[in-house]
Amino acid sequence: PRPRRNQDRRHTNKGLAAHDDGDAPSDSRAFSNTPDTDPDLPGNREWGRAILARAERSTIGAEIVERNTVSSASELDSVIAAALDGGATWHSFTGEERAAILDEMGRSLERHRADLIEAMASECGKTIDQGDPEVSEAVDFAHYYATLARELDTIDGAQFEPSRLTVVTPPWNFPVAIPAGSTLAALAAGSAVVIKPAKQARRSGAVMVQALWEALDAVDIPRRVLQYVQLEDRSLGKQLIAHPDVERVILTGGYETAELFRSFRHDLPLLAETSGKNAIIVTPSADLDLAARDVAQSAFGHAGQKCSAASLVILVGSVAHSKRFRNQLIDAVRSLHVGYPWDPRSQMGPVVEQPGEKLRRGLTQLGEGEHWVLEPRQLDGSGKLWSPGIRAGVRPESEYHLVEYFGPVLGVMTASSLEEAVALANQVDYGLTSGLHSLDPAEIGYWTEHIEAGNLYVNRGITGAIVRRQPFGGWKKSAVGAGAKAGGPNYLIGLGSWADAPVHD
Ligand code: GLU
Repeated sequence: PRPRRNQDRRHTNKGLAAHDDGDAPSDSRAFSNTPDTDPDLPGNREWGRAILARAERSTIGAEIVERNTVSSASELDSVIAAALDGGATWHSFTGEERAAILDEMGRSLERHRADLIEAMASECGKTIDQGDPEVSEAVDFAHYYATLARELDTIDGAQFEPSRLTVVTPPWNFPVAIPAGSTLAALAAGSAVVIKPAKQARRSGAVMVQALWEALDAVDIPRRVLQYVQLEDRSLGKQLIAHPDVERVILTGGYETAELFRSFRHDLPLLAETSGKNAIIVTPSADLDLAARDVAQSAFGHAGQKCSAASLVILVGSVAHSKRFRNQLIDAVRSLHVGYPWDPRSQMGPVVEQPGEKLRRGLTQLGEGEHWVLEPRQLDGSGKLWSPGIRAGVRPESEYHLVEYFGPVLGVMTASSLEEAVALANQVDYGLTSGLHSLDPAEIGYWTEHIEAGNLYVNRGITGAIVRRQPFGGWKKSAVGAGAKAGGPNYLIGLGSWADAPVHD
């Protein structure tokens, strides 16, 4: 049975309009965020348990991956040619026509909610409370970019020329929302798409693409315009990125990957959201109960594997000595149940694969002056299940201050003033998300003015940007190339260019 959705705004922080059952609103032009599944309703709990029971042994999406794995240069050329061919029809549609198809894609993603959660749990270790909102975000992208596609039709004096072909290279940490968002944006703009999901998330990406293909089938449009690939060897990656017919590449991933792509082709039209090393600052005026909760959630949701995650907390003045805050934070973090997603008690899942050298260092080694408040422990033989770690005494300009580890470990720094805390946060090369816990308007004003990050959150966790409400994107080394924030009003414009409209007398 289809689960009922949560209608409670306090719980979801979204859901402006009343929905009957989670489908698109009846006036498809009015965008509103899709509510998540309410885990408190007994029917939904059963629905969730059934998904998790399947997830443990699931191979969902595997046949799509297998069918679409490319092993030679000529095969890859055919994929690109097919996308361009499908794109010719797609290109001829008006924004209004594309929007109607995007709305259908949103409904199809919603119908596949359970499959998508199953894929993310089985492949990437995503717990259901992380996977469910991710599906909502993907659905939101479809309906939101549909509204933007309609607007492209109504801009006077200039004609929007989409790129003919966009390559989408999404990461494994948001295996549904990010591939969906990037693909839907390119399609909404009028471009054909070749999507190559990260190999760790290839099945989740395939199930997402299958949902979009079904929407194309429903309106009798050939699937060619949207090509899914996995590549058998690395040299094919270079061929794909450097291909002369590729007019845009949307990348979400590490900063090094953006550099690598640029080395393949120096004039690459890249829209990249890259790494982050994000801090939450807590001042003495803060509601410390709220701060402890938000720091714990922002640091350890999906085991810290988010570009948006809090990996530093900077305690200002007396907060640094507050036993109450310290104990609350430790309690909040220690009480997180760590386990695989199919164990319904799990609040923090495994890391996606055995930690590489950098994350292992982050989980096991201390820098000068640091000590463990909670030492990460390996919980089973897989090497993937780690208890969350907190290190205190992180010194300015030390490795832990500046390097992104992308895992379940939080560093604590101290500062004698808000000004000093902001300077510490700004010392990192990245600028993706940032948080402030303070109840003082003057502090909030100072921080907003001086902090260098794309997404600023006051008295809230720093992950989980909501489409349209919090357009998402970074500053400094967190963004490479052109492009407005994803899920915000100008994103599609980066996926094409403007030509002067023909003059009529
Ligand atoms: N949009 C996600 C969030 O707000 C983060 C995306 C990422 O990690 O790349 O949490």
